[in-house]
Amino acid sequence: MSDLAARLSAIDEKIADAARLAGRDAGEITRIVVTKFHPASLVRDLHAIGVREVGENRQQELSAKTAELADLDDLRWHFIGQAQTNKAAAIRRSADAVHSVDRDRLADALHRAAEDDRILDVLVQINLTDDPGRGGVAPVDAAALAEHVLGLSSLRLRGVMAVAPLDEEPASAFARLYDVASAIRTLEPSADWMSAGMTGDFVEAIAAGATHLRIGSAITGPRPDRG
Ligand SMILES: *Cc1c(COP(=O)(O)O)cnc(C)c1O
Repeated sequence: MSDLAARLSAIDEKIADAARLAGRDAGEITRIVVTKFHPASLVRDLHAIGVREVGENRQQELSAKTAELADLDDLRWHFIGQAQTNKAAAIRRSADAVHSVDRDRLADALHRAAEDDRILDVLVQINLTDDPGRGGVAPVDAAALAEHVLGLSSLRLRGVMAVAPLDEEPASAFARLYDVASAIRTLEPSADWMSAGMTGDFVEAIAAGATHLRIGSAITGPRPDRG
């Protein structure tokens, strides 16, 4: 087995253990492999060992990799980074899901960029810190943003996404995210994704109810220099 395959299966075992401990079915948890800063060849290697869900956080990298890997048509690309409105069309062209919708204007831009009947899955990103400069909408404004998304016919609201703050126990931050997720689900029962948990905190995220984990370095190895 390659190092990559060994790391992947080690993480999948930890996910299964954490799910068992939380009394959850691991089958309801989707593991997205975050491949940012790694070459497209790594995504191809991941695909060869069964990975189908991958995540990128920069539009240019997403566009370049999806072009290079166009033959792998069963890959699902999750865009998880901060998005500028003027990149919305390029993101929409390449992504199957956008986890980082944090304002009405971005939702509008993604909607306007629809080129065919395809519906784009979107999540509302929640800012769990007190710093308004971080990505995401404040928890108190999440329902209004979700309502806005629900009014855009080319977008499908799937749930919420967040990154745990650096200065707080992930368990308490994810508990707050779960409350926001529950409030959004009352607006739209099918919006039941909770995208949370990275290399350092996916066990806590599973305990808190995460349905989509975004795991990078524990699977891919250290990221190459950003340059
Ligand atoms: C990079 C990134 C991840 C993955 O981080 P790791 O610590 O490498 O697992 C998850 N979510 C977002 C939004 C990211 O930018």
